[in-house]
Amino acid sequence: MSPLRKPIIVGNWKLNKTIKEAINLVTQLKRLLADMDVVDMVVCPPFTAISDLSEVLMESNIRLGAQDLYWEEKGAFTGEVSGSLLKEAGAEFVVIGHSERRQFFHETNETVNKKTKAALRNGLCPITCVGELLAERESGKTFQVIENQLKGSFAGFSPAEMKQVIVAYEPVWAIGTGKVASPAQAQEAHAFIRRKLAETFGQETANGLRIQYGGSVKADNIADLMREADIDGALVGGASLDAQSFADIVRNAALVAVK
Ligand code: PEP
Repeated sequence: MSPLRKPIIVGNWKLNKTIKEAINLVTQLKRLLADMDVVDMVVCPPFTAISDLSEVLMESNIRLGAQDLYWEEKGAFTGEVSGSLLKEAGAEFVVIGHSERRQFFHETNETVNKKTKAALRNGLCPITCVGELLAERESGKTFQVIENQLKGSFAGFSPAEMKQVIVAYEPVWAIGTGKVASPAQAQEAHAFIRRKLAETFGQETANGLRIQYGGSVKADNIADLMREADIDGALVGGASLDAQSFADIVRNAALVAVK
């Protein structure tokens, strides 16, 4: 991480937690992390819990995000949720193009582009995900895949728009597998992402951009990742479902941040 960028740790709860369980979890997080101010903290519950959590988290240092959105504002789009509805419910962030969305719900760089634009239009901070599959890494295509994802996901963006985006680098082979990328592997990908975005949007934009790592982040590996120059935080799945483990991740990230 660099002192230019405030670290951000985001919990992606995926399809987990009833409203009651979600309230219980953030109530514990509020207590465990009440004094934390050097790391930004966000939780992304299922849609159904956002509104209730926004009341529990009012005036707290923990902020709320959603896990997806649709790019249209309203209309005949059964099952979809727009950026303005998320905003109204209390979300400030939204994860876009997570590999599970790409894999199971056929999201493409084009839909990720539309969703990222829709998030910005509605004043939500997009956390836009990129990352290669294991077969792509093994066949030496990692950087080509990431470059294509960046080009497609941010096509037509201005530097001013890009400045409002958070990018999450999530190698798909590391998500939910317990196989974390080594700090050197993650740094190599993050530096590549920053360099590519600098080519398109300028060095100043790229220098300010927060790039999170995601993939089996735990309390015992976050510090080594955060010591890398271009790693500005983490998108955490499994380990964000338990209050103590999420709080430990935040605290270990903070130890690196205040050095
Ligand atoms: C994720 O869902 O974005 C993720 C990185 O999951 P996990 O931490 O469980 O690997």
